Amino acid sequence: MSDYIASALSRDTHFRIFAVDATETVREAQRRHDTWSAASAALGRTLVATALLSASGLKNRDDMLTVRIKGDGPVGSIITDGTEIGTVRGYVQEPHVNLPLNLVGKIDVARAVGKHGMLAVTKDIGIGEPFTGQVPLVSGEIAEDFTYYLAKSEQIPAAVGLSVFVNADNSVQVAGGFMLQALPGADDAELSALEANVKTLPLVSELLKSGLTPEQIIQRIAGDAPVQFLDTHSLRFACNCSKAHFGDIMATLPHEQLQEMIDEDGGAETTCKFCGNQYHYSVADLEALITRHE
Ligand code: ZN
Repeated sequence: MSDYIASALSRDTHFRIFAVDATETVREAQRRHDTWSAASAALGRTLVATALLSASGLKNRDDMLTVRIKGDGPVGSIITDGTEIGTVRGYVQEPHVNLPLNLVGKIDVARAVGKHGMLAVTKDIGIGEPFTGQVPLVSGEIAEDFTYYLAKSEQIPAAVGLSVFVNADNSVQVAGGFMLQALPGADDAELSALEANVKTLPLVSELLKSGLTPEQIIQRIAGDAPVQFLDTHSLRFACNCSKAHFGDIMATLPHEQLQEMIDEDGGAETTCKFCGNQYHYSVADLEALITRHE
């Protein structure tokens, strides 16, 4: 089934809850970047968080959100983008990272990402300069880091769950997550009650494996609180790169450098970091880029 994000508002309008099945999206990211288990989990969780933040924080068609996580662990930087139309893309600096399982038998994402570093979220909503909020990493487990980001940078009390189940052959079995946000008017007792539900919730990957839908996950989080379901949004991995886009960037290189590519290499290759697509530029393509300067 295709991935989608469900959302709901508590009937007293004090809470918003989002839940997503991002299985196909994270599978595609894993395949495109050939990530190994620890890198798959780190990139996958970040993509799920990016999808949830984009669904909750972007409003217009061209709005875009970028997440940068830079920790001191072996995967290096993780960069992801999300759009209002339900696409995400992203990459991890070092995709080939496998680590021993942690003490609770799970992929050690905290060690892969590193416990020291920063998480930055940039929102470009087409009005004025893009806005960036940045916080230090609190655990490197990513969900806790996003919870901290929402509290510190956006002043939104929240609970975030992100979960990727990686098979022994590095492929992704399921991926998903949820985000609970308190809205103005929510009181501490209500928030505590929902947080207690969240604490008893199995991992989202377990819920998805047992066949629950995003709506059913929302219902589990809401518990007894009545909710009104809002629109669902489809989600998929997609990149807006193109040969023309990279051509525009290459056209800004000095002539001599482009001429060198023609003389010495007989062409050029470029690979999109975000999606892994490769583009080839023939001698004729490169010559066209040079004449564009003139
Ligand atoms: Zn691309």
